[in-house]
Amino acid sequence: MSARILDGAAVAAQIRSELSSRAAAFTRSAGRRPGLAIVLVGDKPDSQIYVNSKLKSAGDEGMTATLSHLPASTSLEEILSLIHRLNADAATDGILVQAPLPDSLGAVAMQSVFDAIDPSKDVDGVTPVNVGRLVQNRADLIACTPAGIVEILQRSGIDVAGKHAVVIGRSDIVGKPVSILLLHRHATVTVCHSRTQDLPKVAATADILVAALGRPGFVRRTFVRPGATVIDVGINLVTDPNVAHEIFHEGHPRRGLFDRKGSVLVGDVHPEVEEIAGAVTPVPGGVGPLTVAMVLRNTVTAAELLAIRKAAM
Ligand code: NAP
Repeated sequence: MSARILDGAAVAAQIRSELSSRAAAFTRSAGRRPGLAIVLVGDKPDSQIYVNSKLKSAGDEGMTATLSHLPASTSLEEILSLIHRLNADAATDGILVQAPLPDSLGAVAMQSVFDAIDPSKDVDGVTPVNVGRLVQNRADLIACTPAGIVEILQRSGIDVAGKHAVVIGRSDIVGKPVSILLLHRHATVTVCHSRTQDLPKVAATADILVAALGRPGFVRRTFVRPGATVIDVGINLVTDPNVAHEIFHEGHPRRGLFDRKGSVLVGDVHPEVEEIAGAVTPVPGGVGPLTVAMVLRNTVTAAELLAIRKAAM
């Protein structure tokens, strides 16, 4: 059996086409485009790639996206002061601070920055207010990758209600919020992490398996019940030939890509899983494009809600 490949890029394109008409309607009534402000601190190459993709996509769908790119030496106070300015800026509907911040800022800096974002502009769904609303199933702005995961399940016709979902990973940005979203859609949810005992056995009980741990090719066929849906959240840049060759067999197109470029993007799910799963999301082209689409959707939603609140004042 070969798994159905869930085309995240196609689902994201569908969502984005729905959004461009909402963005145009907002622009007509507000006299300006929905505005997304992205804050990037430091020069981490993969963060720059993610940010550029969000900037371009926002422009393509009729939004204004601006980048505040600060040097890695920026202090926490300077970042917080920028956030306060963006909170007060009438043309900014959404604020996104690209994670991670430089290590030199300390372990709690990211949380302090998230805490400073106005929840009504929190298009990454990371403020305590929006996380609390998510838990209570009344959030307007939900973390983008988890929101993208439930969107691809729904738009691919994969039922969640009554199913057993196993989520590997318990981060604030992916594992926990996707577990809550699946719970709200009436899945029975098991959350796994680095201390989970006999992980393959637990994972193999899943109807829907979400792998969000950040380890290339970690989820092998022994983790997967035949016919299960497997959502691969991982984005890992592999540069070690031993790792790349272990994951991609001789003749696999992505092995050829690695041999030409010296690096390859790999998910958390091993390609052999395609032989046993019912459906899988690819990497790249699975969850990644949906994350970007959800940033855009949250920006339009934030703009619409801010306009409604302004009109009611
Ligand atoms: P993270 O904050 O590092 O969290 C990783 C989680 O995986 C932790 O809960 C950790 O457990 C668990 N874990 C690590 N090793 C494990 C193991 N051997 N067995 C079981 N659990 C293990 O990572 P993240 O931010 O959630 O990201 C996860 C992956 O998704 C990364 O590859 C990241 O690049 C990718 N990502 C992709 C997108 C996208 O748009 N597609 C968006 C965000 C993230 P403990 O809690 O016990 O340490």
